Amino acid sequence: MTPVWRRELRRISLLLIITFALDYFTGLHGWSVVAVLVCYIGWNMLQLSRLYRWLASGQIDSLPSSYGIWGSVFAETRRLQNRSLKHQQKLQAIINRIQDSTAALQDAVLMVDSHGNLEWWNQAAQRFLGLKSPVDVGQPITNLIRDPSFKAYFDQADYSDPLTMASPVNKHIHLQFNITQFGRRDRLMLVHDVTRLKQLEQMRKDFVANVSHELRTPLTVLAGYIETMDMNSDILPERWQRMLKQMGSQSLRMEAIIKDLLTLSRLETSAKEHPAQVQIQPLLEQIAADARALSQGRGHTITLSTEGPVALLGYTDELRSAFSNLAFNAVKYTPDGGHIELIWREREGRAEFCVKDDGVGIADHHIPRLTERFYRADPSRSKETGGTGLGLAIVKHVLLRHDGELYIESTPGKGSCFCCHFNAQSVITELAS
Ligand code: ADP
Repeated sequence: MTPVWRRELRRISLLLIITFALDYFTGLHGWSVVAVLVCYIGWNMLQLSRLYRWLASGQIDSLPSSYGIWGSVFAETRRLQNRSLKHQQKLQAIINRIQDSTAALQDAVLMVDSHGNLEWWNQAAQRFLGLKSPVDVGQPITNLIRDPSFKAYFDQADYSDPLTMASPVNKHIHLQFNITQFGRRDRLMLVHDVTRLKQLEQMRKDFVANVSHELRTPLTVLAGYIETMDMNSDILPERWQRMLKQMGSQSLRMEAIIKDLLTLSRLETSAKEHPAQVQIQPLLEQIAADARALSQGRGHTITLSTEGPVALLGYTDELRSAFSNLAFNAVKYTPDGGHIELIWREREGRAEFCVKDDGVGIADHHIPRLTERFYRADPSRSKETGGTGLGLAIVKHVLLRHDGELYIESTPGKGSCFCCHFNAQSVITELAS
């Protein structure tokens, strides 16, 4: 028992003893005890009501004072109150510090509640997104940033990939949005200015496109002369003839690389406009015929099976380039007499084009990197087959432009399967007349 309670009990006991003695000597038959108890209860009720009134008033400064057990209750309450006040001040200081530091950030930070309404943002958000304080507080974020790509991104459940788009207030500023969910579907948005990166990326694309373009003409001239000299090489010594042959094959390789680099540049830079219905049957028949021509004399069995959607929404030349890269790779990397299947089919509402072979296969650790430019699983074999190392990069970019994806499965020594998946929006089941 605490000393406060001991003192209180002693006080009550003394009071009762005095009251009983008074009662005994005055012959009041217990009335004085009743009167003292009523007073005691009344006094306690009064203290309780003072405490309640103080709590209800919310005026933290004017805590009443008392004595006895109530004096201790009031003192204890004041102590707790001071402690919570100190905690509050500490928390407020931390919040102020966090707000000051986020306000000073170069990146924009925005807090959006579970209903998609804007709660708080920093100065950079004002600059990048044109938000106005305080009028925009509580407004739906999709009303303030009206770009359809932002709305689609914000409404989706998965934010694992960032969104890059032009700033709504200045189209020369490119912004990257990252959203993190916390609490009950509240969202924290980080917006980073990627204009410089975009410019560098554009410079890289322009540089590669320009270099490829500039190299094409002189290389065509050189290749032409080499071919002419090769045709009349009988008069030259044998050593020179060998050198000419090598120069001829290397210039053809360089031409192929430049052609593929230009194709990649076009895929990266040209706008996605006016997609057409690409009929699958004739396209794949042509590719199968070209693959057979490439395999000539090597005894491959090349089969084509087509069932499912008749057409895809997209660009014929690009799809031809992607599909033939896969088919020609199968021919290149399958030993003579091997089997190659070109398959077009429907799977769960989407369409897929797969090229299966029983060729050399690819080790697992190469697979994630195959679509990188100039990446080769087996550089010496690639050189033998005359590959540019850009074929699968082209496939990847073509699929990106058709909202498709490339899936690769392979077992070394057993063969590979390259599949292009196209989602339902790109699939056409009946040709428009
Ligand atoms: P390349 O012009 O060298 O063939 P690609 O980009 O088309 O370049 O292919 C990248 C690499 O992927 C190739 O160098 C090869 O190692 C591997 N590869 C592609 N297709 C196949 C296949 N069907 N079988 C085995 N390896 C393949």
